[in-house]
Amino acid sequence: MELDKGAREIIRVLEEAGFSAYAVGGCVRDYLLGLVPKDIDITTSARPETVKELFPKTFDTGIEHGTVTVLWYGTGYEVTTFRTEGKYSDHRRPDHVEYARSLEEDLSRRDFTINAMAYHPSRGLIDLFGGKEDLESGVVRCVGRASERFEEDALRMLRAIRFAARFGFRIEEETIRAAIERASTISYVSKERIWDEIRKTLVSDHPEYLSLIFDWGMGSFISEILQDQDLADHQAPKRCEQDLHLRAAAWLHGYGEEAVYRFLREMKTDLETIRGVSLLVAHISDPLPSGEDQAAQMREMMRRIGRESVRKLLKLKKAVCMITEEEYSREEALLEEQWEKPVALKELALTGRDLIAAGDIPGPQLGAHLEFLLDEVIRDPEKNKPETLIALFRNHWYNKE
Ligand code: ATP
Ligand code: MG
Repeated sequence: MELDKGAREIIRVLEEAGFSAYAVGGCVRDYLLGLVPKDIDITTSARPETVKELFPKTFDTGIEHGTVTVLWYGTGYEVTTFRTEGKYSDHRRPDHVEYARSLEEDLSRRDFTINAMAYHPSRGLIDLFGGKEDLESGVVRCVGRASERFEEDALRMLRAIRFAARFGFRIEEETIRAAIERASTISYVSKERIWDEIRKTLVSDHPEYLSLIFDWGMGSFISEILQDQDLADHQAPKRCEQDLHLRAAAWLHGYGEEAVYRFLREMKTDLETIRGVSLLVAHISDPLPSGEDQAAQMREMMRRIGRESVRKLLKLKKAVCMITEEEYSREEALLEEQWEKPVALKELALTGRDLIAAGDIPGPQLGAHLEFLLDEVIRDPEKNKPETLIALFRNHWYNKE
């Protein structure tokens, strides 16, 4: 295991100033798995103020949690002072940070054995809780007594599911038992933190592990909307690529458009996700082109929900088994064939200004005229030429008067 250069340098600077420092948590786990860690966290005995003095470029990312981001040749490293978990009153993380004296104390407040290892460039791996062995046999296990750890922070129950789903690990029995016992306490955790774990599980290699939310009894304590657990489709997400909107729609479509919208609002997720997922669920039962002129029907669908959404909708219909593999291939081919065809007002070969120049009057009917021309172009893309459209406009609107 070879620690990245920046992390080694940061550790060296901290040690030369008389502090201890280690790479810790997710990055150690990822290194041992042979994966490239997303980011490298460093834990140190130095206080945040000191870290800021020791390095020329730092940001206060989470100074209230003892974290300072050190910028080292363009890469950010989160440097956090040894912490303990302090006192818990309401199953959430404590509101104030308490610093720990030792690495041991810092490691023992971490959630799972696989996340509680540290690494030092010359001292090597520090593994006090059997993390390496659990990593090798593929087990998610709480550090210490699971029931106490979930009592302190109920989010850890969802984190157990998330890490098991990411690596395809099993969850150790006592950890499962404790989660079942404590399921209701998930209601104390903020919706944002809950959604963050669900979101990461959805796009992992094993989104079907989300069924554990219900198996352990957390569903209705996360949201009233999830009360009826039979409406969730746990097998559908893994039949889709790792796209959040697609997988969330595949998982939740059974609850219906309105409930899915309310659920995502409740989870306080971003507007783009709320819109993207709701749109897919709203259109899941839309009929696909059939019978005469399927190309024009496909263009109409592209106009109605947008090209990218049609592409996702086809994938969604396949994932929830509303269409077969063959139907999917046929519709996908039709979509690709029509992809470049004009299906929006801004893709018309003329603008409102051109219509005015041709005798139209500015005002609300101008938009209606453009929509009429787009109807024509959707039926026959060959008509998308300025002179053809002007002629159509004149014919249709002047002859009527
Ligand atoms: P990822 O690659 O998804 O970021 P990670 O292991 O870095 O995985 P984070 O959520 O970033 O996960 O947390 C970083 C580390 O902090 C974890 O590895 C764990 O040691 C510790 N940790 C995070 N959240 C908790 C928690 N709720 N309770 C205890 N320890 C936690
Ligand atoms: Mg991380």
